[in-house]
Formats: sequence, structure tokens, C-alpha cells
Amino acid sequence: MTVAYLGLGANLGDARQTLKDAVVCLAQQHTIAVLAKSSMYRTAPIDAGGDDYFNCVVKIDTTLPVRHLLALCHTIEHHFGRERPFRNAPRTLDLDILLFGDHCIDEPDLIVPHPRLTERAFVLVPLVEIDPTLIIPQHGRADAFLEAVASQRIEKMKSPCQCPVLGALTGNKAESSKGGCR
Ligand code: ADP
Ligand code: MG
Repeated sequence: MTVAYLGLGANLGDARQTLKDAVVCLAQQHTIAVLAKSSMYRTAPIDAGGDDYFNCVVKIDTTLPVRHLLALCHTIEHHFGRERPFRNAPRTLDLDILLFGDHCIDEPDLIVPHPRLTERAFVLVPLVEIDPTLIIPQHGRADAFLEAVASQRIEKMKSPCQCPVLGALTGNKAESSKGGCR
């Protein structure tokens, strides 16, 4: 088993819903256990036009070798209608391998840790949210890079349900025990 981190992004179609569905899709794989999921973030496109992005990061445990995981990411992207008309084009779903255990891979079609990981608030902020002391192989602590990306616009989305009644209905004990709408 390997602990890996995947970055999800989308800015075409119902982007927020697509990210939620893609996480469910990952969790349904018998080769993957989803250990943690970050909040959803709304972020400014970087090096690209188009609408704002929605981004999140998931931490998984997987029995898949890294290349099989990459192939699965591509299959799931395709399932959600991903097209690549040009570089950095708006996308229905982008699913990147950010980290794969402590592996360091530098091949033409696969670079891990992801090459832009330390330069992008839209992956660093959710990564540090779910793992505040995370170490990036060959780079050091993830949180050390936050200051350098502080000028990139990123907004944490409020959890959709803060209500005890709805929390109880959806089986969310954490929400239902908070005792009142905020
Ligand atoms: P983006 O760089 O915007 O994510 P794409 O999703 O179109 O662009 O990916 C382009 C290529 O990047 C893929 O075909 C894939 O083989 C390659 N790639 C290299 N390293 C990674 C990685 N760590 N995770 C996902 N794709 C990667
Ligand atoms: Mg990608």
C-alpha cells in the first residue's frame, strides 16, 4: 500500500459537483481507500483564461503501482468529459498525482512530486489543510512554500451544511452535534 495525494481541479461545466463525483469515483475503486479530503476551494486560473477553478486534494491509500494510478486518473478524467484542445485549456476535470509515497519520478509522461506543486496555492493550501506537517520529497515541508504563493487568489468554500437538522438527516454526526445553524 502506498499513501498518495491527488489534486483535483475543474472550471468547465458544473465544476464543483464534478469534483465531488470524482472523489466518490475514486473511493469506489477497490484498489483505493480515501483517507482524507480537503475543503473545496475556488481559485483564480493561472497561466490560463476561462472561469475560476474549483480545486481540492485527496489523500489516498492505494495498492496500485504509480503508472496504473496515472492511467486510472486519465480514465476518470475521460469519464467526466475531459478534452485537451490546447495546453491549459479549460477542463471538466484535471486529476494529477501530487505525491506518491516518497517516490521521486522524472520521466517524460510522469513527474512526481508534481512539478508545479510548490508554486501553486490551489494545491499547497488544500494539501497543508489535510496534512499540516507534510514533507514533500526533495523539497521539505509543504507549509514553507505557502508564503511564496500568498498573492494567488484562493477562497475556501463553506461546507454546504452547517445545520444540525440537515446534518442529522445526512448522517453527519459532527455537524449535528454542533448545536445550531451558524
Ligand atoms: P496539466 O499539466 O494542466 O495537468 P494535463 O492534465 O493535460 O495537463 O496533463 C498533461 C500530461 O502531464 C499528462 O499526459 C501526464 O502524462 C503528464 N504528467 C506528468 N506528471 C504528472 C503527474 N504527476 N500527474 C498527472 N499527470 C502528469
Ligand atoms: Mg493534469
